[in-house]
Parts: sequence; structure tokens; C-alpha cells
Amino acid sequence: MQTVLEWLKKELGFIKVSPYEKRYINTANIHTAIYMSFIGIVMELWMIIRYVHQRPGKTFFEYFDGETNYLIFFSASLLLLVFSVRYIRELGKFNAGKIIAIVIILMDICLLSRYLYTHVGNTGFFGILFGLKYHLLLFAMAAVYFNYEFAEIFEENESDIYGQILIVLYSLISVGFGVDTSLYDISWGRQILCFLTMVMFAACLLVWRPYSSIIILGVSFIYFYSKWKPHLEELDLEAGKVLQGDTINYFILFVVLVMVSFSLYHQRKKEAEKDESLLETYNRLNRIAVEDDLTGIHNMVYFNQEAEYQLADESVDIEDWIYLFLNIENFKTYNDQIGYQAGNAYLKRLAELIRDTFSGDPVARLSDDHFVILTKADDMDDKIETIRKDVHREDDEVYMELKVGAYRPVARDQDPRIAIDYARYACGLTKNKYNVNFREYDKEVDSIFHKRQYIVNNIDNAILNGHIKAYYQPVVWSESREMCGCEALARWIDPTYGFLSPGEFIPVLEENRQIHKLDECILKQVCKQMHSAMSQNKPVAPVSINFSRIDFEMMDVVALLEEMTHKYNIPKEYIHVEITESTLTDSAGIIKKAMDQIHKAGYSIWLDDFGSGYSSLNVLKDYNFDVMKIDMKFLSNFGENKESSIILNTVINLAGELDMISLTEGVETDEIADFLTKNGCKKLQGYLFGKPMPEEEIREKIDSGFYKISEKHV
Ligand code: C2E
Ligand code: CA
Ligand code: CA
Repeated sequence: MQTVLEWLKKELGFIKVSPYEKRYINTANIHTAIYMSFIGIVMELWMIIRYVHQRPGKTFFEYFDGETNYLIFFSASLLLLVFSVRYIRELGKFNAGKIIAIVIILMDICLLSRYLYTHVGNTGFFGILFGLKYHLLLFAMAAVYFNYEFAEIFEENESDIYGQILIVLYSLISVGFGVDTSLYDISWGRQILCFLTMVMFAACLLVWRPYSSIIILGVSFIYFYSKWKPHLEELDLEAGKVLQGDTINYFILFVVLVMVSFSLYHQRKKEAEKDESLLETYNRLNRIAVEDDLTGIHNMVYFNQEAEYQLADESVDIEDWIYLFLNIENFKTYNDQIGYQAGNAYLKRLAELIRDTFSGDPVARLSDDHFVILTKADDMDDKIETIRKDVHREDDEVYMELKVGAYRPVARDQDPRIAIDYARYACGLTKNKYNVNFREYDKEVDSIFHKRQYIVNNIDNAILNGHIKAYYQPVVWSESREMCGCEALARWIDPTYGFLSPGEFIPVLEENRQIHKLDECILKQVCKQMHSAMSQNKPVAPVSINFSRIDFEMMDVVALLEEMTHKYNIPKEYIHVEITESTLTDSAGIIKKAMDQIHKAGYSIWLDDFGSGYSSLNVLKDYNFDVMKIDMKFLSNFGENKESSIILNTVINLAGELDMISLTEGVETDEIADFLTKNGCKKLQGYLFGKPMPEEEIREKIDSGFYKISEKHV
């Protein structure tokens, strides 16, 4: 039962349709209205001409005394045609339309007055009202159309209502007209063709919900039948039979017309559904193309287009504009600690805040926790502060910071991608700098940028031409202060840039995965120089070599060590491997595996920069080291507070308990050296005992006895 009811509801059109489908069906109706009103105009023009032709020598009013219907139907058709064409072609203001409406209203008033003039007094009130029905309907049509012409702005779909009203009024006129004409003709003993034509006419126009077609057609048919029947009965030709046959045919036509309107409606509805889903797909694809899938704000495709478009505008002064690159420092820790999901949710919220704060400007997410903006330089500070406040507020346990790089475009047609690269680069320079959160790409940054480019492009040449040199810094036993080894530190002495410090080139080479070339070069130099000293029977101290995390990914460190020591005949206890603590986030386990092999091969491994990172204690738990190099950070406020010496002491004891030799770096004063010695630190390194120096210099100092190499190595 339920399903039959549902089916009926659906067939009759008692269902909700989407605004799109409604509009689609309305538009189709108005398309039909163009053809129908055109036919109406031609038909009535022809009728009017014929009528005038058949009755020569009459006055204007005499012509239309009895036949105003032609004029009314003609005018109604004209109004509907003008409206439909305007609607379909989405034309703008149309003054001629207003004039047509006014002329029709004036004409209608004339005809109406004429009717009243001849009928008031002879006919009762309802009779007059009935006689005026077409005048009133036409008047209503002209008024609706006039109103449409004057309505300035249309909300989406609002003009549909005007169309619907006009079509209904027009259909009422045409059906009524058909009824009248046919009844008139029948009284002359003629056919009912006019009624049928006009009903079909209306049925074509009224393709709305099927139930409305049933009502309108039903009422028309029954009304006409009630008027027609007495005439049929008057005809004296076996009245009953004719009546039955004609009645059946008449109602069959009604059923057929209803069916036609059903099928037209459902066909249009199906088309509308298909059309709508296509449109939806199209919109979705469009959205995806310019939307960042995680945060829902725009992506870089959109950003680049918008930025280009914005700056291309000649009326825009490009000096007012600035590109910003935003990075959330320490977001990774937030992700690790609070969870990936929460991290994503946070990024989404932040993205929305950035978009809203810089509303009107191109804003996009570049990747991860990186956002880009093109905005006016004048008022960017407040806006950046708004974002920064939010970043600070986010979580108490994980401290995050907003880092911003900025770049001012230099040309109207500069590629936004390049501009963003510069802003990003400037932002990178604020990394790990506690109180630097904003950096604009200026001349200074530009020179750093070019230096970095230079470093990446020239590392191979520098190695080949011997510009990379191993410097040696002595390490001493704390008790005897005798030299127990050296650390090899790389120096780049460049013909263009002069003396480059590792702080400049090491991070660049690491970022660009080139550092292994340098480390291989240093190891080779160290082995070669050691070999040369040994073959001259000169005293030699062990040397520790720094290795980066990338080395373990880019080359076989163990194989290289083995190759070099073998080639230059160096005892393995003369080469130590330094691995910095921050390297040891070793998810793939490559470093751990390599470290085991290095140990097995007989080299000792030193833990560099202990205490500099976040994971110090975990590193001790998971890896095996022979020496702990305590980071010079521990000495930074030595003497200022008690705590630093307590901590230093604890770390030294920890090394001892873990069977590691303790070594403190960065020892610059006797006071610190004595403190460390007293507290059990085994080895010391720092400017107090010597800065890193070229091989010739340290060789000379050893040979001259300035440095005495200890008998004891371990
Ligand atoms: P590091 O391995 O911790 O090296 C110690 C750094 O502290 C060296 O800086 C050294 O000159 C400096 N230093 C030593 N004693 C003192 C002191 O008493 N006071 C002060 N203020 N500083 C002292 P350098 O040579 O500039 O090297 C910086 C970093 O560059 C090194 O830190 C190391 O991580 C990296 N590095 C240097 N050479 C190489 C290399 O050949 N390969 C790799 N992978 N990294 C290297
Ligand atoms: Ca080191
Ligand atoms: Ca160190």
C-alpha cells in the first residue's frame, strides 16, 4: 500500500524537487511559451485582418464591439513573447517592453470603458464582471509584466514566479477564449475545434506538476462539457447515440492530453536530474582543483593564479604588496605528542583563521604546516600578530612558534612560485632562533642565499681543487693535560668567498644531501696525513671524524672506513667516529645497524653534542657509545648559578655509570677546566688547549713539544 501511494505521489508530482530542477522545468516551459505565443500572435493577426477585411467601412470601435477577444489574445501573446525572449536570453533593461505594457494597459482601459459604457444599466453586476473577465486577465498580465520590467534586481529564481503567473493568466485567457468561441460556433451549428485547439495549446504551456495539469484540464473539460451538452441534446439526430460517441471521444481526448502532460513533465524532470548531477560533478571537480584537501582553503594552483592576476592589474602598485611564508615551528612535536588527528584538526582551524584574518587576499596552504599569503605590507603586522597569538595559545605543553618569511615582488610579472621560494628562504633563516620570528628577504638575505647556492654548486670543485681542509683541534686528558687525540673539523678556504665556516656550509650540504662528499674527503685527508706522519715515525694522536646522518643514507660508512684505514695502513684505534645526538632519530634503523658494524670492525664511536637535543636520554638507552661529548651548552652559564655545576656533575657521573668516557667541549678557562677535572670528567676540549688549526700547525706544535701526546689513548 505504502509503495502504491508513494508511486502515485511521485507520478502526480507531489514530491519535493530541487531548486535546480524547478528552474530547469520552468525554463523549459518558458521556451515553449516562445513558440506558443508566437503562434498566438500570427493566428490573431490573421483573424484581425480577416475580420476588418470582411467588414469594410466601420469605425474603430465598431470593429471591436463584439470581437475584442482577438485583440486581447493578440496583446496577451505579445506580452508573453516579449517576456519569454527576455527571460531566456537574459537581456538587460528593455524600455520597449515597458512601452508595450503601457500601450496594452491603455488600450485595455479604453476597451473596458467602452464595454462598461454599453453594458452598465442593461446588465447586472456579476454579468458585467463575467463580461470583463478577459480585460481583467489581460490587465493583470500587463501589470505583472510591467512590474517585472521595473524590478531592478532579481534574486536567483525570482523571475520564474513572474513567468509562472504570466503563463497561467495566458492559459486562462486562451482556454476561456476557446470555450467562448466554440460555444458561439456551436450555436451556429458548427464544430468545437476552437475549444480543443485552445485546450491543447494550454496543455503544452502548463507542463508543471501533473496534478496541476489534471486540475486545469479537468475543470476546462467539465465546464465546456456542461455548456456543450444542452446544444448536443438540441440536435435532433438520434441524439443519444451521437451524444454518447462524442462524449466518449471528448473525454478520451482529455485523458490523452493529461497523459501527454504527464510524460512531458517526467521527461523534463529526468533531464533536469541528469543535468543537475552533471553540474554538481563539474562544480565538485572545479572545487577540488583549487582547494587544499586537508584544510579546505585554497591550494597553490589557485594562489599562483590569483597572485599573478592581482599584480598584473595596472592600477595596483606592486610596492604595496608583499608575499608571506608562514611556518609553525615545533609543529612536528605537537603532532607527535598530541596525535596526528589533532594535528590535522589544528591545521584546519589555523588555516581558516589565516584565511579569515587576511580575507580578500590570496591565501593558500603550500604543504604541511606551511602557508602562503599575498597581502598589503602596510597592515600585515597586526594580522601576523593575530595568527601568532593563536599559535601560542594552542597548547601549553608543546610550545609552538609562528615563523614568517617575507618577500616584496620586484616586477609585475614575477612568477609567484619564485617569490614564494624567496619568502620561504627568508623564513628558513629564523629557524631555531629563539627571538627571531620574522625575516624579510633583503640584501643581506640575498647574499646568504647566493652563498648557499654557491656552496651547493661548488662542493665538487672545492674538493677536487683542495679547498676543503681538515683542521685539527686537540683533546686532552683532564688529569695530565696531555694530548689524547684531535677532532678533525672541516674548513673551506674559497678563492671567491675566502674563509667559510662549517656553520655556513655544513647545514647547506646536509639539506642538499651532499655532506657525504665532504666527510669522505676529510676522512681521506686525515688518513693520508696520519699515514705520512707514521711513515716518518713521528708521534701521532688519534683523530675523531664527524659524520652526519645523511652520510649513513648516502654511502656505506663502514666500507669507507675499512677502505681508508686499509689503504693508508692506519690502526683502527686511531680513528674515532663522532655521531651527533640529534642525528639519532633513526626510524629506519640504518644508523643503528651501521653503528653495530663500525663497533664490530673495531672503531670507537663517540656521542657528539650530548644534551643539545630533546632525546638525549633515549639515545643513551638505545645506542652504544664509547665516549660522551658533553655539549658546550652546559658551560654557557657556568659560575652564574649553582644548578649548572650540579647538572654538569650529574652528567659526568652518568657517563661513568654507563661505562663511557666523559669529554667536555668548549672549555675556555682554567676555572672550568679545574672544575671538570675535580668532578671526574676524563677528557677536555676547547680553546683553552687550542683552536682548530691546520695540519702543518699542529704537526709543528707536536714536533716542537708544545703538545705532548699521551701514551694512554683510552
Ligand atoms: P662540533 O662537532 O660540535 O664541533 C665543535 C665546534 O665547537 C667546532 O666548531 C669548534 O671550532 C668549536 N669549538 C671548539 N672549542 C671551542 C671553545 O672553546 N669555544 C667555542 N665557542 N667553540 C669551540 P666548528 O669547527 O665551526 O664546527 C661546527 C660544527 O660543524 C661541528 O660541531 C660539527 O657539527 C660540524 N662539522 C665541522 N666539521 C665537520 C665535518 O668534517 N663533517 C661534518 N659532518 N660536520 C662537521
Ligand atoms: Ca664533533
Ligand atoms: Ca660537539
